[in-house]
Amino acid sequence: MTPLFGHLVGRIARDGPLTVAQFMEEALGNRDHGYYMTRDPLGARGDFVTAPEISQVFGELLGLWCASVWQSMGSPTAFRWVELGPGRGTLMADAVRATRKVEGFHTAAQIHFIESSPVLKEKQRETLGSVGMTNGEWHRDISQIPDGPVICLANEFFDALPVRQFQRVVGGWRERMVDLNETKNGLRFMLSEHAAKPHFIPDAVQGAPDGSLVETAPTGMRMMHTLAERLVKSGGAALIVDYGHAVTSVGETLQAVQDHTFAEVLADPGEQDLTAHVDFQALAEVANRTGATCTTIMEQGTFLNSLGLPVRARQLAAAADSIEQGRDTAARIDRLTNPAHMGSLFKVMGLSSPELVPLPGFE
Ligand code: SAH
Repeated sequence: MTPLFGHLVGRIARDGPLTVAQFMEEALGNRDHGYYMTRDPLGARGDFVTAPEISQVFGELLGLWCASVWQSMGSPTAFRWVELGPGRGTLMADAVRATRKVEGFHTAAQIHFIESSPVLKEKQRETLGSVGMTNGEWHRDISQIPDGPVICLANEFFDALPVRQFQRVVGGWRERMVDLNETKNGLRFMLSEHAAKPHFIPDAVQGAPDGSLVETAPTGMRMMHTLAERLVKSGGAALIVDYGHAVTSVGETLQAVQDHTFAEVLADPGEQDLTAHVDFQALAEVANRTGATCTTIMEQGTFLNSLGLPVRARQLAAAADSIEQGRDTAARIDRLTNPAHMGSLFKVMGLSSPELVPLPGFE
């Protein structure tokens, strides 16, 4: 068992079973043994690969999206260029490169990264430095971003935040918990013996049949609330890209990935990535309540194409040094946009202060 397991045994013995969200918080964010706190999990040699690590066009197009939003804001002389959970910093570096020629944009941009992992923070500092950006600032929380208009990107951030799970049983909903197994040498799921508070269950699934499981993401909701409130107050926009569903629905999506393969969720706490699909409808409802405006939820493939991906793909094909390189570039772009790969599972939602509607790519 993993070093984190010993800690979980102690915590469960003391406090009783954990909610799935508490388990995820420990597995991913425990200061000493949490998955993200102790390693760089990205890339071919890591556990998983994300869009910016697949192709530079992803960060380039998102960067140009930001520049276009900045212009529609009247090109303010200073703004907060924010990214939530920047991983290795690759997306921002590509965004920076792609926007070099946008006059005044870099001078106005103050980069702010929201990041919890000390390992990735160092990696991000290095990556930003490699494109000449040395004015980055790091924060633990969105509320710490200093005053001023905000343009924010988040790719595969919300899927890494903890979810609670509730199961419908005869007579009501019960929360799914994580407990020690009978021989105390592993973990198991169990249902709480108490009924879940009704307001924990989204309205859309209240009538679901017995056996149904629903996931909610309280931390993600809180962060979305803070972000949306800030956009309304200071002006600005955000783009959220993640895999998930456009409409709140039942179904278990929590999954573990280790070395590019699916694994048992409870098998190896702290050593495997845990993610859950993002409920975009729930995020939009939270944002709307603050007065922010949300776009429709678009599929990643459609969105990237609407930002001009085919043009950029042709430029890269023409610039390729060899036939192999050209093919590799095309295959990577296809992976981002093809509905059989990431093109339709991944969704994109924009949100902004109301005066910035319509946002680029969603017109
Ligand atoms: N956006 C990057 C990385 C995605 S992985 C990419 O597309 O490649 C998730 C990122 O979110 C990592 O950087 C991780 O350390 C960070 N993260 C996870 N939970 C967080 C939290 N609660 N607060 C801040 N950052 C978090």
